[in-house]
Amino acid sequence: MLITLTCYAPNAPEVGYLLAKNPDSVFEREFSAGQVWVFYPEVAEDHITVALLTEIDPVGLVRGPAALTQLDQYVNDRPYVSTSLTSVALHTAFATALAGRNKERPERLNERMRWVVALPAVACDGGEDLMARLFTPLGYTLTATRHPLDSSFLAWGASDIYSVRLEGEQTVRDVLGHLYVLLPVLDNSKHYYVDREETEKLLDHGGAWLALHPERELIARRYLRYKRTLISSALERLAALDVPIEPEVEANGSETSDEAAGASELAREPGVGLHEQRLQAVLAAIRESNAHSLVDLGCGEGKLLQLALKERQLTRILGVDVSSLALARARRRLHWETMPPAQRARIDIVQGSLLYRDNRLAGFDVAALVEVIEHLDAPRLSAMERVVFEHARPRRVIVTTPNREYNVHWETLGSERLRHSDHRFEWTRAEGRAWAERMSATYHYEVTQQEIGAAEPEIGAPSQLFIFDQR
Ligand code: SAH
Repeated sequence: MLITLTCYAPNAPEVGYLLAKNPDSVFEREFSAGQVWVFYPEVAEDHITVALLTEIDPVGLVRGPAALTQLDQYVNDRPYVSTSLTSVALHTAFATALAGRNKERPERLNERMRWVVALPAVACDGGEDLMARLFTPLGYTLTATRHPLDSSFLAWGASDIYSVRLEGEQTVRDVLGHLYVLLPVLDNSKHYYVDREETEKLLDHGGAWLALHPERELIARRYLRYKRTLISSALERLAALDVPIEPEVEANGSETSDEAAGASELAREPGVGLHEQRLQAVLAAIRESNAHSLVDLGCGEGKLLQLALKERQLTRILGVDVSSLALARARRRLHWETMPPAQRARIDIVQGSLLYRDNRLAGFDVAALVEVIEHLDAPRLSAMERVVFEHARPRRVIVTTPNREYNVHWETLGSERLRHSDHRFEWTRAEGRAWAERMSATYHYEVTQQEIGAAEPEIGAPSQLFIFDQR
């Protein structure tokens, strides 16, 4: 069984190293179900093709933990189609790239490149419809050709075997992760035992993209072989990663401009330019701290990142968001593809969740959470608190959140309703202060509270700002 992945990108041979394989040599290894080879049939400056060849030992499979039954133990399609076994082979060959790690070229890990994946034989009981439901939401164009059961006896009808071509802009890690998770989902006859460990694999390699996939339930069900308890725990954990995002396309079908898209979050807020004032207040708190590095947690479409790039003293800037859509918009805003190398060297944008400990978030002078915490419900909020204040532990944490008392100013909002449909809460100033004091006491930070926007008697200003400094 052979699959090939072709990547079109500048300095394409480097992509071979991203996959952690020297493009000039052949990699060969045994794995549980047979043998796998990785080699590069084509290496050019602007594209590179990597081939993964697997030889499955059908008799060896019989001895595996998920033995087939009787005759089909020895006579089956396993050696000839892409299946869950191909996933195992992918993992054997590309474990580091699948984990999103690379020593030599870490800066290219998040680069989106055009990939063409050729899968000459895919077993899929759900047909082209299922394949499209799985791959198109991830940004692939899919071409599938169905093969007859036997080309000498066409009257026997069609088989469940397809030749598939996928084309799309992806990062290295994503393209591998998509295949790793989705090939077994297509196949539906997984030849290994499914247990708790499989849930971990699904979440490791699905992670953020799976949380946002419209067919995540179907994917979890088939991947986990319909084991109900595994499926519900996987879905729960995926839900924790998932956050509703602003629709990119307006009702009239036209794409919103960057500005309009940015405005949607704040459309119901009184006072033009409040978000601008908020960002300026955050920038002032960044400058005041003499920070050289900044992590923008829940960076959304990258407005703060854009301003932070102009602060020459910031030599390391990282934007993190769980939503790939928001990150795509941030890249567009920052003109990612054409960014001058000197700027590009100072900034990175990664997909990640604030609910899970993540080493990438550690070691920054300042962390900013601008209008993010109110999107988290209680259990997630406390997960975030630990991730930020205990694990990432920057010198200074800057948090902004609405002041609910101010909502009376917006007629249709009144004092009961929230400013945005995805807000899980909006705090009064007293509630905000109580939370901040709890953070301060629990995690040993000094806290100061400020207001953003014009303050009024009784109700205060539209927004609250908290600055936490490590004691
Ligand atoms: N800070 C930006 C965006 C605020 S909107 C700005 O001020 O413009 C809230 C953002 O938080 C969204 O982009 C959302 O995707 C992100 N978010 C929500 N929950 C998250 C989580 N658990 N992990 C990471 N980002 C999250």
